[in-house]
Amino acid sequence: MAVEKRNNYTDSTAILILKINQILLDYFGKPKRKLNSDPLDILIATILSQNTNDLNSHKAFLNLKNKFSDYEKIISTPLSKIEKEIKIAGLGKQKAKAIKSFLKNLKSEKGKLDLKFLERLGTIEALKYLSNFNGVGLKTAACVLLFGLKKNVCPVDTHVHRVLNRVGVVNTNSRDKTFYEIYKSLPDGIAHEFHTNLIKLGRTFCLSKNPRCFECPLKKMCKYEHKNLESTRAMKSKNNNNKDFLLLDVV
Ligand code: SF4
Repeated sequence: MAVEKRNNYTDSTAILILKINQILLDYFGKPKRKLNSDPLDILIATILSQNTNDLNSHKAFLNLKNKFSDYEKIISTPLSKIEKEIKIAGLGKQKAKAIKSFLKNLKSEKGKLDLKFLERLGTIEALKYLSNFNGVGLKTAACVLLFGLKKNVCPVDTHVHRVLNRVGVVNTNSRDKTFYEIYKSLPDGIAHEFHTNLIKLGRTFCLSKNPRCFECPLKKMCKYEHKNLESTRAMKSKNNNNKDFLLLDVV
């Protein structure tokens, strides 16, 4: 797929992104960012995060790191032993297989377990390289680029996809299409704060069922036709600190 970035940020999507980004910054603040993450750690943590919450995948990641301080050891370890360490994140068999297979193939192709060479590639080239490995989808590849290599890409998970479609920034039927639509227009330097605050919005207000539009900071500009503007007692005062925990900012 040929994906070209627009060379100025005056298109309507970019303007809308900037507006939303500012509202979210005003509401949630600028997210903290870890600047020395290893891209390979990010890739493994993102595989572990599939279909589970960030707290469980973080525990699984720490278990794996404690057991295998050197990822090379994973290559020669039976799947059942890897699975045991990451069980808490669910889908242990599938994730153990994806992690082991990725490490084995990376080692045989590059001679060492290091993804820093991706810094020298263009964004689309780096995404394509990573997505060619079994078990690595576009979202995982984009997470490596954003959190591990500090590239200006916005990974699209279920929250980001839902919010951007409801608000009216994109009109797509898949997360991958949303990613490329946003990629083309994303102004420089905002990917991390935009991605992180969209996830916070999706976890706090723009829930998949019964969104809390009545108190959402984007409610004035949002185009969603089924906005829920009526609060009920039962919907009030949900305070869950786990919503603020973002795995890839602590790996
Ligand atoms: S107004 Fe409602 S639908 Fe729109 S972004 Fe906010 S919570 Fe989501």
